[in-house]
Amino acid sequence: MQAYDETFDVVVVGFGFAGGATAIAAADRGARVLLLEKMPEPGGISICSAGGVRTTSSAKDALVYLRATNAGTAPDDLLRVLAEGMRTVGGFIEQLAAASGAKVSHVQADANYPFEGFRSFGFATIADVPGFDPRRDFPHVRGLRGGARLFKVVLDNVATRAIEVRLSCRALELVRGPAGDVEGLVVEKGGSPRRIRASGGVVLACGGFEAARDMQIQYWQEKPVLPSAYLGNTGDGIRMAQAVGADLWHMWHYHGSYGLRHVDPRYPYGIRPTRFRDWTPGAALDPEGEIPAFFTAAQDMRMPWIVVDQTGRRYMNEYPPYVTDTGHRPMIHFDPGTQTYPRIPSYLVTDGPAFERHALGFPTYNDPGVDFEWSPDNRRELELGIIKRADSLEALAALIGAEVARLRETIERWNRLCQQSRDEDHGRESWSMAVLSGPPFYAAEVWPTVANTQGGPIHDSRQRVLNAHGTPIGGLFAAGEIGSVFGHLYLSGGNLAECFIGGRIAGAEAAARARTAPPCAE
Ligand SMILES: Cc1cc2nc3c(=O)[nH]c(=O)nc-3n(C[C@H](O)[C@H](O)[C@H](O)COP(=O)(O)OP(=O)(O)OC[C@H]3O[C@@H](n4cnc5c(N)ncnc54)[C@H](O)[C@@H]3O)c2cc1C
Repeated sequence: MQAYDETFDVVVVGFGFAGGATAIAAADRGARVLLLEKMPEPGGISICSAGGVRTTSSAKDALVYLRATNAGTAPDDLLRVLAEGMRTVGGFIEQLAAASGAKVSHVQADANYPFEGFRSFGFATIADVPGFDPRRDFPHVRGLRGGARLFKVVLDNVATRAIEVRLSCRALELVRGPAGDVEGLVVEKGGSPRRIRASGGVVLACGGFEAARDMQIQYWQEKPVLPSAYLGNTGDGIRMAQAVGADLWHMWHYHGSYGLRHVDPRYPYGIRPTRFRDWTPGAALDPEGEIPAFFTAAQDMRMPWIVVDQTGRRYMNEYPPYVTDTGHRPMIHFDPGTQTYPRIPSYLVTDGPAFERHALGFPTYNDPGVDFEWSPDNRRELELGIIKRADSLEALAALIGAEVARLRETIERWNRLCQQSRDEDHGRESWSMAVLSGPPFYAAEVWPTVANTQGGPIHDSRQRVLNAHGTPIGGLFAAGEIGSVFGHLYLSGGNLAECFIGGRIAGAEAAARARTAPPCAE
């Protein structure tokens, strides 16, 4: 048996919200914790997020809702723990915020779908962190202010507990002891491997596989799917867990939508189209702005575009109840006749008044290697060719490669639906509809995009990773978006709730296990 180079009570892999919450919880129970991050900067996707943590005023009602949206894809005890956790997670965020002198905002905000219990929900967010400026303090990040603020709070809490953090340190594989339990792991920093014992266990908090093209090809029919914000999540934790026998779930499911694509492949991220708060010039929803406006399909938000396939046909509700949950799903259509995916890419079609009014795209990333701001008047994106202008319907058809007659029919039909304020074709909410008044028209390719994946190793209500027989793998825990409970419909704010609720449980469990672990010679 090979010796270990060093020993910790708990080793946490990945420093986003889940890893931070896990490390804090384990340290608060007296554990000596090592927090690993493979990238030079911590934050993962978490730092780009809106920072909305789902809360509830009634665990009972929240459970009813979660059951309906999970459609049998996660067991009741797990959903109950999440629902109960949502009842108290706001208090935990308050405790964390105190370390930074930050202000927490708690608001009621309905869940995304009108299932029973949907009114029982809310959000906890960090409203303000004194002296903190996201652009100055995290210059490599473009995202929503709430996520950056919450990450600053987590960073402060990790620092005040003197948790050891190693950046640019990648977990490579898990090490098992003679009884098959996970005993430690091999990491790599600066090209040298190192064996670390984790007497209480290893907690995988290293995100999903939104930047792992090979896994997407295997698990998803539609392709390519552009990551929305981060390239560091390449499924490493999923592979490590599989190698020690973990079962997987929810691999098909991701928090996604349709998004614009940069013409320069060095900018690999899908770009969110910006929703419009109302029809007044300058009144676009501030995309970096506050919860719950970012998530809620508020009735004053228009979406002045339609999405058409490569034949010029409109085929979807462009503004479903939660566009960043299901916006990509109608694109998954394979035509066996032509052996193509005629909706990938699709085309967002809008008109002059919309183009003139607001910035149409909102880039998000945690990546020091790119630098892209969407211009306020869309001119730069027009010059770059991300958006294209068509001075006639014929030119628009040529841009898309569609037949003029088909496109004319689509646009005339859409405008009739707008005039009657009812989308008989795809059920889009009338308040979001706006007539296309072109020419000129503007068109941009849209592709499926993934904010974060939900699939990964199955865990139980104690965050213990399970094998294919449903038995916990000793010493192995998971938290955060690696193996999320969401396996059917997503709940906005649900992933961060999982990061903090599941992270706290995993940290406490691993710390407790460390207290009973036998001594081991290094
Ligand atoms: C624009 C945007 C807005 C969002 N807003 C919200 C929101 O308001 N509320 C909500 O609930 N959800 C939101 N989400 C989703 C949410 O941000 C994520 O689900 C959540 O942050 C994931 O947290 P995590 O800690 O599990 O993963 P991450 O934050 O991605 O952290 C995982 C970390 O593990 C590291 N890692 C990976 N492999 C290894 C390895 N081998 N060794 C060491 N480290 C490794 C990664 O580099 C990364 O830093 C949003 C997503 C996007 C893109």
